[in-house]
Amino acid sequence: MAELQYEFEHSRKAFGWAARDGSGVLSPFNFSRRETGEKDVTFKVMYCGICHTDLHMLKNDWGTSVYPLVPGHEIAGVVTEVGSKVEKFKVGDKVGVGFLVGSCRSCESCYADLENHCPKYIITYGAKYVDGTITYGGYSDFMVADEHFVVRIQDALPLDAAAPLLCAGITVYSPLRYYGLDKPGLHVGVVGLGGLGHMAVKFAKAFGAKVTVISTSPNKKKEAIEHLGADSFIVSREQDQMQAAMGTLDGIIDTVSAQHPLAPLIGLLKSNGKLVLVGGPEKPLELPALSLLSGRKMVTGSMIGGMKETQEMVDFAVKHNVKPDIEVIAIDYMNTAMERLLKADVKYRFVIDIGNTLKPTTS
Ligand SMILES: [Zn+2]
Ligand SMILES: [Zn+2]
Repeated sequence: MAELQYEFEHSRKAFGWAARDGSGVLSPFNFSRRETGEKDVTFKVMYCGICHTDLHMLKNDWGTSVYPLVPGHEIAGVVTEVGSKVEKFKVGDKVGVGFLVGSCRSCESCYADLENHCPKYIITYGAKYVDGTITYGGYSDFMVADEHFVVRIQDALPLDAAAPLLCAGITVYSPLRYYGLDKPGLHVGVVGLGGLGHMAVKFAKAFGAKVTVISTSPNKKKEAIEHLGADSFIVSREQDQMQAAMGTLDGIIDTVSAQHPLAPLIGLLKSNGKLVLVGGPEKPLELPALSLLSGRKMVTGSMIGGMKETQEMVDFAVKHNVKPDIEVIAIDYMNTAMERLLKADVKYRFVIDIGNTLKPTTS
């Protein structure tokens, strides 16, 4: 009964998979989306990546989730309709939407092409849009988004591979660029080898850096070096390996979203080195000030990227053949995929084949 409002909030019927409560279990869901506005692009969703954030949001780990929740912010598809004032896209174009679908467009961050730091940014699902309705993500048949928040995907890039770039890709690309870790010959560390970490290795290699993966699991070494192209591997629990690598890294992209000690990582940095956190542990991390003073080291953070940079990242990925390693799944497999993601049992990103496997219910 309560579902009627989602179904009739707007005039167009939409269909997807949603969680109804903090159990996070996903099931088919009828809802609605707005008509294509003047500046809107409507596109058929073909693929949607599963980001770790989806799992957190499904289970209300951060206490901010709104149900029914249709997750998905690594969305790739094909344009089916454009508004009368849309300038960048036409029907048939391959496009994507990532973490954001809106921002104020008039603050300092927005003017600087940093919509991701706008205090009024609107996330792709579970947020209130400018018309007061709730946003729904890409585990659904189609999307409507303002063209400013839509990214062009070149034909050379398959849509299933494009999807994870829109969150995992930009999340690591942006700090590599901003913190100057995008220069040939630099030595970059990557902590954690999941969806974000494996993209960090690939982008850092594409920039010409020497890459060292730092992980708790020694069994990832072979894969990191032989398959992902990392130059070396450190098991963070092995004191002698950590000791031998002290003071060797220009910067570190730390993708770990669980509790972990920072001081040993800071120890790996050269003078002026930067430890960039892109994961979001729920509890505060311990930061010993003394570890920063000698060598004036920096601990900082980064969250996705602005729209201009997101487009630049996708274009860079095409040019340098940077592609995520994906496991394409049918939508019926969703709940199992979430259980596997929780155990980090995926190399390295699940991508849902929405175009071929999402079937509307008739009821
Ligand atoms: Zn994400
Ligand atoms: Zn703004």
